[in-house]
Amino acid sequence: MRLSPTLPDYAAARASFNWSDARAQLNGMPAGINISHAALDRHLGTPTANQTAIRFLPREGDPVDISYRELAARANRFANLLATLGLQPGDGVYCLAHRIPDLYAAALGTLKHGGVFTPLFSAFGPEPIRSRVEIGAPVAIVTTERLYRRKLADWIHKMPSVKHVLLIGGVGEAPRGTLDVDDVLRDQSAEYATRAMNPEDPALLHFTSGTTGRPKGAIHVHEAVVAHHITGQYALDLHPGDIYWCTADPGWVTGTSYGIIAPLTNGVTMVVDEEEFDAERWYRILQDQKVAVWYTAPTAIRMLMKLGPELARRYDLSNLRFLASVGEPLNPEAVYWGRATLGLPFHDNWWQTETGGIMIANFASMAIKPGSMGRPVPGIEAGVARRTSAGIELIEEPDETGELVLKTPWPSMFRGYLHEEARYRQCFAGAWYLTGDLARRDAEGYFWFIGRADDVIKSSGHLIGPFEVESVLMEHPAVAEAGVIGIPDEIAGETVKAFVSLKPGHEPGEALRKEILGLARKRLGPAVAPRQVEFRDSLPSTRSGKIMRRLLRAQELGLPEGDTSTLEGARE
Ligand code: AMP
Repeated sequence: MRLSPTLPDYAAARASFNWSDARAQLNGMPAGINISHAALDRHLGTPTANQTAIRFLPREGDPVDISYRELAARANRFANLLATLGLQPGDGVYCLAHRIPDLYAAALGTLKHGGVFTPLFSAFGPEPIRSRVEIGAPVAIVTTERLYRRKLADWIHKMPSVKHVLLIGGVGEAPRGTLDVDDVLRDQSAEYATRAMNPEDPALLHFTSGTTGRPKGAIHVHEAVVAHHITGQYALDLHPGDIYWCTADPGWVTGTSYGIIAPLTNGVTMVVDEEEFDAERWYRILQDQKVAVWYTAPTAIRMLMKLGPELARRYDLSNLRFLASVGEPLNPEAVYWGRATLGLPFHDNWWQTETGGIMIANFASMAIKPGSMGRPVPGIEAGVARRTSAGIELIEEPDETGELVLKTPWPSMFRGYLHEEARYRQCFAGAWYLTGDLARRDAEGYFWFIGRADDVIKSSGHLIGPFEVESVLMEHPAVAEAGVIGIPDEIAGETVKAFVSLKPGHEPGEALRKEILGLARKRLGPAVAPRQVEFRDSLPSTRSGKIMRRLLRAQELGLPEGDTSTLEGARE
């Protein structure tokens, strides 16, 4: 269908933009704000109420349609359940589940009740889950019986904060200390008066990784919905009634901001697929569900490219109108491939957990520069800066590399790292937020991604903190030191490689390598564990004993070892 772009004139929209107009679009609650009100309740007196909100594609079997009205009722039941269990506003609710409707109802119900929602990757092993539970101290955790038995049962009941373990789809009697969600929801009312929150009240806690230390819990507030909503229009070209598919899991911030919130506030029908990547399944979904707007990631695009254009051409993809990509650098070839094979280019956009929403994008109405992340969304000022002893200095000349910085504030900006005020403060210099990414801006104001300024690894779109991986490797009795880096990978962008030195009395060998890899996989899960382990007699470290990952990386990739100190430690 031909529709005019939501942002027909970039320069004009930038010039006239203000956040209060954007907020007015959500014709808010009489007092206060609530993400779930903007996503659900607001539509109930309108024709959107009967429109499909979620078209759920289970692993096997027929699609299930859930209307806005029905989703609101399910969220209400969940909110009532939290009230019955005695949860207070501000209490944390975690969800560890595949992409199933209960996850969406739990997220929206938690927000309605004023709780703080945290989705976790179901592909995480027990270790990343445990550390996130320790840090965030949720009061309740929602999961499936299978995931509970495999990943939580051994330890979750020892966590002092966790009062309720709610199991979805339980068969038979719920294990001791858990509640069967279906059972307890049945008695709950489908009416709930969504709690009017202060715009600055916490709503979401998303974990991200840094170079050192444990994962960081980025706090987002209800006001963030204003940015989700408007960027959904501007950067994803969402129009009411669109069929939209965001392939990201809600365990990653994209799957929440643009896989739950923005599509619902914009009144679209979102496709939710329970299954993981499978090329033929994905093409079939695009065709059969008549997807108009598709938001995906470079790793998936590269996997499709590898399988060749013939496969794509077997499907009728003529309903596609707008393609967007995020999470990792999008190679220019992928943009061209989209155009040649799917009839449309991919529009790259950039953001991160801390920004809460899309900051830089190639817009529907603007010429794409393949390889560029695009231009800042209206309402966002981006710059390139170099760090100085006094803070930062903005680089005005085009094409100079520096750190990507964003002028504060904006509604979806994180409001803190949970319990880590100092770490949070380090992310700012005056009015600017320092992203930890290196970029350049060209003369036309397009931004180009250069790399990370720190040691975190991006593998298949997942941000992986080397410290988290090293800590698990160090648990192996033979391991003395561990250093973890990302090495380039044609499909995944990067994969995790570990270097270890051994304690006296242990010899490197194939059996030990397999044992260490096996331990890492079991504890961290396949999305985070290293793919390779290399033994070294010793690892390069600083005088204070910090492993120099940059040096390991330079040695591995045959890069100059020279200036390994740039920005080191500036952002942890
Ligand atoms: P996360 O917080 O997990 O969403 O990861 C955010 C990081 O992913 C950013 O800081 C970048 O390093 C990377 N990233 C996100 N989008 C892009 C993009 N379009 N191009 C290059 N890197 C990206």
